[in-house]
Amino acid sequence: MDLILFGPPGAGKGTQAKILVEKLGIPQISTGDMMRAERASGSELGNKFAHYMTQGLLVPDELVLELFAQRLEKPDAKEGAIFDGFPRTVDQADALDAILSKLGRRVDHVIALQVPVESIVERIVGRRVCLSCGQTYHMRYSPPPPSGECVSCGSTDIVQRKDDTEEKVRTRFEAYEENTFPILAHYEPTGVVEKVDGLGEVEDITGRILSALGKN
Ligand code: AMP
Repeated sequence: MDLILFGPPGAGKGTQAKILVEKLGIPQISTGDMMRAERASGSELGNKFAHYMTQGLLVPDELVLELFAQRLEKPDAKEGAIFDGFPRTVDQADALDAILSKLGRRVDHVIALQVPVESIVERIVGRRVCLSCGQTYHMRYSPPPPSGECVSCGSTDIVQRKDDTEEKVRTRFEAYEENTFPILAHYEPTGVVEKVDGLGEVEDITGRILSALGKN
């Protein structure tokens, strides 16, 4: 199954993707996580990503698509994948459709997480992430344990992403509205778009997603 988790920054895509990996047995492909890993390696490509990411701007399609295509070729993605934060533009969606079509696949589902704008800033500014495994936390709703050790991997590298500030959220939300939101209209005619309420407890949202996928 090839599934796009769609929604504005802070909609819960990463949190849900990590849970769905277990439930569906297919990998999460997060271009944002891949770019952060590339930045952490200090490579030239990583520095190019940093230039855009630190400003809350989208990374140009040609850079994203190369990274994405290499990841989709890995054997663990041969039965499908959960796309998180990709596609971000209609051109990326066209490219995804073409890549999948060559493999005899298509986007089977687009789960569009619905979260009101007012909740986004609060969610993003309170968000913390484990640098080792990507586990996410929220200082108010699901804080890291008092020991400071990640519940998934035990690392103490739990930090606030540099682009998770109120100022950067605004730019990122504008990029979403202008470039990413039109992707829904691209997929709506194929009947694969399901709108899912993204507010509430994490497990309730997972339940809604699985129902939309016909999995419970
Ligand atoms: P995310 O982790 O998905 O919130 O992405 C963080 C940042 O990485 C974004 O604000 C963009 O600068 C960049 N990024 C991640 N995925 C993409 C993509 N598919 N296209 C363009 N830029 C991206």
